[in-house]
Amino acid sequence: MSETPTSPAAATQFTPSEAHAALMARARQVMPGGVTSTARFNQALQAPFYVSRAVGSKLYDLDGREYIDLCCSHGASLLGHRHPAIVEALAQAAEIGYACSAEFEAHVQLAEQVCQLIPCSERVRFCTSGSEATLHLLRVCRAVTGRDKVMRIVGHFHGYHEFLYIGGQPPMDKLEENFVTPYLESPGIPAIMRSLVVPVPFNDLAALEVAVQQHGQECCALVLEPVNFNSGGIQPDPGYLPALRDITRRAGMLLFFDEVQASFKKSPGGAQQDFGVTPDVCTIGKSLGGGMPLSAFCGAAAVMDQFQPAGPVQHSGTFNAHLIQTLAGLAFVNQIRDPGFYPRLEALGRRLYAGFDDIVQRLGVPVCFPHHGARFNLLMGLDRPARNYSELKAHDRARTLAFIRESIMRGVYWADYGGGPAHHGFSIQHTEADIDRVLQVTEDALRTVWL
Ligand code: PMP
Repeated sequence: MSETPTSPAAATQFTPSEAHAALMARARQVMPGGVTSTARFNQALQAPFYVSRAVGSKLYDLDGREYIDLCCSHGASLLGHRHPAIVEALAQAAEIGYACSAEFEAHVQLAEQVCQLIPCSERVRFCTSGSEATLHLLRVCRAVTGRDKVMRIVGHFHGYHEFLYIGGQPPMDKLEENFVTPYLESPGIPAIMRSLVVPVPFNDLAALEVAVQQHGQECCALVLEPVNFNSGGIQPDPGYLPALRDITRRAGMLLFFDEVQASFKKSPGGAQQDFGVTPDVCTIGKSLGGGMPLSAFCGAAAVMDQFQPAGPVQHSGTFNAHLIQTLAGLAFVNQIRDPGFYPRLEALGRRLYAGFDDIVQRLGVPVCFPHHGARFNLLMGLDRPARNYSELKAHDRARTLAFIRESIMRGVYWADYGGGPAHHGFSIQHTEADIDRVLQVTEDALRTVWL
């Protein structure tokens, strides 16, 4: 990805308000880089975006300025902010007392709901973050197969832990080498962990067959994002996911869909419902808690019943399925089960994506917006969606950052957390008027950075 500015507009600077600058100065004194999480440093602003209030589809900054939110908590806020059903669930938790290491009927109810909605889910366990979900699910995949390695797809992201933060999103100049010596995505990850990861390219069945022949016997699972939101919204080729189902079965590997991002964005059953391919196991998350920290991992009973006390594999945690997020999860599921929910989401998406396409065509700029349900990406410098990670070499990062700054200055909030093209989205509380405003601002910002 290009790091050098390619347009004069890339030089546009964000100037923080007095209140923003003062808070940032305090933050830098007490937190590394002034943020609680790397991704909260918006690369386009070269600053965190401070929010004083979040309501419906809107964020308000420290000075009370309103923004239409296209970050939506990195995908967690599919219901938007301060949704009445979630507010009610939080009040209910306060009323009941949220003892956090006890089982409640709500846990059983939520597990029943997940098992009804997610095709591969015969059993489910809950945790807080997506990273935890992939960590624990990988453990049981290893236990059940007796194989330590994992096959993964380049460009896909599965959280920040030592097992999967390797070889996923290497810098473009390390891409070739990554297939031989998987790239360690952070200092501090022991080099020895590389030996447990086999990276393969996306949408390339021939390369996968070769890797399976060489390493299949040692790999417990093939893990992937069925829609690669984390590297430009890359869709699986037609027939690719069914072929994976077949190849993994033959190799005795588990098919592991990481749906932390994809789940609930287009349908209640996630990408496995959208594409009609049922994996052995999957992770779900982000939006499941209606904005509260809740993720889950689920799958076939034969795999999941390996967890203690049904089997020998450990998964535990004081805050697992905390009552606050469990009740929020039930409220979330209740919302998405409303027959009007997905038609409404789809109608908003149609308006937004048709509007994006229209702008791009009229302006004649090489920009595209790959999308799946309520989540989309912005690719600058590509006039059609990418098929794999290596095609993102053409992505114009400097223009993307300039575009995001121009949009934020006009009242539409896009996040950028570094690396490749980020994902963005809208919520059920966004309105047609919000979408039309986003389109207007997008056109203005694109004109500024391209024309
Ligand atoms: N898997 C996928 C596919 C994700 O998109 C993410 C988060 N972007 C994660 C795992 C990690 O989730 P979390 O940030 O909750 O740890």
